[in-house]
Amino acid sequence: MTINLQRPVLAGNWKMYHTPAESRKFFSEFLPLLPERLNGTVIFFPPAISFSEALHSVGDRGGVHFGIQNVHWEQQGAYTGETSAIMARDAGAELVLVGHSERRQLFGETDEEILQKVQAILAAGLIPLLCVGETLQEREDGRAVQVVQGQLSAVFHGLASEEAQQLLIAYEPVWAIGTGKTASPRDAEEMHGRIRQWLSERIGSGPAADISILYGGSVKPENAGELLRTSNVDGVLVGGASLDPAGFARICTALS
Ligand code: PEP
Repeated sequence: MTINLQRPVLAGNWKMYHTPAESRKFFSEFLPLLPERLNGTVIFFPPAISFSEALHSVGDRGGVHFGIQNVHWEQQGAYTGETSAIMARDAGAELVLVGHSERRQLFGETDEEILQKVQAILAAGLIPLLCVGETLQEREDGRAVQVVQGQLSAVFHGLASEEAQQLLIAYEPVWAIGTGKTASPRDAEEMHGRIRQWLSERIGSGPAADISILYGGSVKPENAGELLRTSNVDGVLVGGASLDPAGFARICTALS
């Protein structure tokens, strides 16, 4: 899928929050707060059951895109409770979140499954937003870069370079997700720089520069501007703070 994801990319992961009715209410409050000419691209990842309501509440408003939070790697089959990438596309999704730490930790998703999902997402013509990040223990052990590079490598080794160029990446240190602790702009800059360097060595510096690398982990209206101005931070992936229309609108307009 070719969509123009102008930077900064401002993505909201609603996790398992906001019913269809709450999604409608969210957009009735959020859209009037968004300037007509937005500097950047806004993406929402609502729960699957609220996806249609959210999409239709936004209508053809430019600059706002939708993704789904998870897919199965098969196109269809006897997989009760699952959704496939082609179903997500048919419902109007343009992106899919994959490898989120909650899926890795709470649902036991492995690197192999994440690669299979990325391949299915690309085959369906959708854009994978691949999440990577280390735990607090891994950071304290001095292994943060190694862990993140391992997670990237597990996916990129299975992709052709034209495929690799279609990904978006979110660096989300696990210790910063939903904890109120944010990586300092220096920590984010360092890891984002390492990720960019790693990508350059694999796919060349031109294509690597085109891959947007988002930061995620307790992003709030108060810290979004500083993070977005950090070098190699091309956007933010926001969990908790994306549930509040006024707060998320402030994040979306932090650089406008
Ligand atoms: C997330 O779920 O991707 C996330 C970054 O959550 P939070 O902003 O709540 O830390």
